[in-house]
This record gives sequence, C-alpha cells and structure tokens, in this order.
Amino acid sequence: MAVELYSHGAAGEVTGSKHFLKSDRATLMVDCGAFQGHREEADRKNREWPFAARELSAVVLSHAHFDHCGLLPLLPKHGYTGSVHATPATRDLASLVLMDSASIQAKDLEYLRKQAKRRGAALEKQPLYGENEVVESLNLFTTIGYRRSFIPADGMRATFYDAGHILGSAQTVVEVAQGTNTMRVAFTGDLGRRGMPILRDPETLPGVNYLVIESTYGNRRHDPMIEAQQKLADVIVRTANRGGKIIIPAFALERTQELIYALNQLLAAGKVPKLPVFVDSPMATNATAIYRVHQECYDAETRRDFLDKHQNPFGFDDLNYVSSIAESKSLNALKGPAIIISSSGMCEAGRVLHHLLNNVENPNNTILIVGYMAENTLGRKILERQPEITIFGEQRKLKAEVTKLNTFSAHADYEDILAHVRCLDRAQLQRVFLVHGEVDAQTHLKKLLEAAGYATTVMRPGEHYAL
Ligand SMILES: [Zn+2]
Repeated sequence: MAVELYSHGAAGEVTGSKHFLKSDRATLMVDCGAFQGHREEADRKNREWPFAARELSAVVLSHAHFDHCGLLPLLPKHGYTGSVHATPATRDLASLVLMDSASIQAKDLEYLRKQAKRRGAALEKQPLYGENEVVESLNLFTTIGYRRSFIPADGMRATFYDAGHILGSAQTVVEVAQGTNTMRVAFTGDLGRRGMPILRDPETLPGVNYLVIESTYGNRRHDPMIEAQQKLADVIVRTANRGGKIIIPAFALERTQELIYALNQLLAAGKVPKLPVFVDSPMATNATAIYRVHQECYDAETRRDFLDKHQNPFGFDDLNYVSSIAESKSLNALKGPAIIISSSGMCEAGRVLHHLLNNVENPNNTILIVGYMAENTLGRKILERQPEITIFGEQRKLKAEVTKLNTFSAHADYEDILAHVRCLDRAQLQRVFLVHGEVDAQTHLKKLLEAAGYATTVMRPGEHYAL
C-alpha cells in the first residue's frame, strides 16, 4: 500500500485543520481544529465526525489557534487513547484556548436556553464539550522541543521546526518507513512572516519529498514589517495630541503580545509620549504570562534585549493588566490620553464592546484596527466607517478616527511562501500540496509555484492522494 495523504478540514478553506498521513503501519493526524465563521454552519461542521478516531495511531498539534486545536477535546469521546504531540508552549496555550472555548460554549448555551424558555420551548442542544472534556484531552499531551526527533507511531519519526507563526508554533517533518525506503513529508501548519517581533523566522526545513503548506495569503503581499512601528507611533502621537484615547481591538493570542512588545520599544526609544496602557482582556493577560515563561521560543533580538538585561519584554512602567470587570468599567471614567488593548479581535463580544460604546462618538479618539475583520462583524462595520453602528442594542455615531495597520499579520504572504519552498532541496521535492486557503488565494499561489517549476496540488476535503 502506498503512503496516503488526505484532509477533513482546511482543504479549500481556512478553518477546521485536520490532515492525515497514512502508511501501511500507522495513521498520523496533524491538527484537530474547529471550523469557524458563520455560526450555524460552523457548528454543524464541528458536530460531523468524518473519520474513525480510534484508528488513529497518533496526533500532532502544530499550534494553539482554535482552528487547529479546537476539537481535540472530542478525541477521547470518539475513542482515541493515544498521545497528542506538541511543543511545550503550544500545550500551555492550547490549554488556555480550549478552556476559554468551553466557557464561551456554556455561556452561549445558557443564553439560547433563556431565549427558548421565553418562547415556551425547551432547548435540546448540548455544547460540543465542557471543561471536563478539555481536562481529559490535556492529559493526552506529550511535549517535545524543536529539533528533537520523536517516534509518534510505528514506522514514523517526527521532528518539530519553528514555524514563526505564534508562540510554540511548529512545522512537522515526518519520516515514513516504506519497506527499505524512507519518505519525508513536511506539514508547515500556519507559517509566520519573516522579521516578526518576538518570534524566530520560520525555519528552513531539511530536504523533504512532499510539502503540505498553508496558503491563507497566497494572493497577498503584506506591508514591510519595518513600517509597522512607525505607523503605530504616528497614530499614537496624533491621538495623544488631540487628548484622545486609542482603542485597539486585538486577538488575545500573539497580536496583543506583539503590540505590547512594540509599545515597549517605542517608549524606550522615546518615539511616543508616556501614556497609560491597559490590557483589558483576561485571556490576553493569561496568554502574556505564558509568553513570559517560554523564552526558548524568542528570537535572538528579544533574548538579547531583554533576557540579558533581565527585563520583562511584556511589562513596562505604565502598562496595566486589567483583571476585574469593575476595573474594566472604571476605565470609562478615565480622562486624558490612554491606550486600551482589548478583545475580542473582531469586536463581536467581550470587554472591547464597553470601550467602543463609550469612545466611538468622540472625534478625538482613535479605533486602531490591527487584524482581520470578517464580514458582518462589528469590527468590519467600524473598518468600513459606517456612520452609525449598534453596540449592545444602542445606536452610536462613529466619529472617532479609524485607522488600520496592515503590518501585523501572523501569516506568510505569497513572497514568504515562495521563499520558504525555494529553500528546500529541489532534487528531493516531488510535490507541493496546498491547504488552509480560499480558492482565489490557492489558485494564485498554485500558478506561481507551477511557474517556478514545482508540481502543485490543491487538496480537496476527503480526497486521498497517493504519495
Ligand atoms: Zn494559526
């Protein structure tokens, strides 16, 4: 039997990553991610289970984003008793992300139950999983650092290489024994950009025969990293001069830490005035604590700047981590310039809503958008500068400045992806498989790769590819 590759998620789309490598002796699953996006559709897809978990030999987790780890708690329920291999930082962040999801699911269900009760109906629906299932899945983790090989399954040897995407993110190279031969298959997981703060660049992989690579921004070029800090400094100075506040809706994982790190550097260099900075998101605060203890993931610059000087890269004099709801609400009464970083990233829920409610009507303030805003989200409406927006059922006129920084992206663009493929040993590489991308991005990237002489396949869900 040939070695096979197939996917049950993030094939022709960007969420729900679930990839499989099957030999005659074992089946390895790479990531067990949740689908996200349109609520009902995502929920339906997350409740489908198109593979036999008890037949899996091992699971490898590339990183802790929900669309890669979100369905891990369902594995034991479906009979999986093996290990989940990940880097130590990924395990710690995944614990945070999964617990957060269990709590959001419980709250959502509570809300739906109340609504149903009001209609005189009963709600049959159960959450996908609760905290108990999360704890059970955390017990499956086996952690290992970068570049230390391990044997996840019979006839397979795997090694993690840095993916430079979020803390702990890893590319996985799997050596598969086939008779007397060995085949090497690499999964990039989500791939970061070169030159990102805090993290190392995506690592160049050793020669592989097959590469499974992400393609989220297969048709996009990002602004150069170098411009990010200056643009951030400009918007802070401009708003502070007006006496306004800067509200930054940001994802709790990675984006918030990058912002804190950038602010720390700007303050140290005297490029922005000293003003109070508040991180108002319990999840972001907890994630930042995890960032602090995983120094093994830092790039050389972060190590040199901070570890040698024994300074904390995620703390400075005017930085405040807000924990209680009362403290969060007290920020509403704050006079004078300040920076408030809060989640959720797309302004759909969470504490950022209070800050927006209280600040969008003041033209002195700035709403700084630093991440992707999906269609139909409040974040997208703000980004489109709609004259009126609704927050908590209340109408507000959007008079604050709205600025977008494109530079903070955790995904490689097509130049980064091409550079990553070019670094591989061309004589060994037989085919590139594209996953984790939408049609336009994948079509564009496939064309570029083929023009550069690489045999390329866009993976389709459920389809098996013989290697
Ligand atoms: Zn990711």
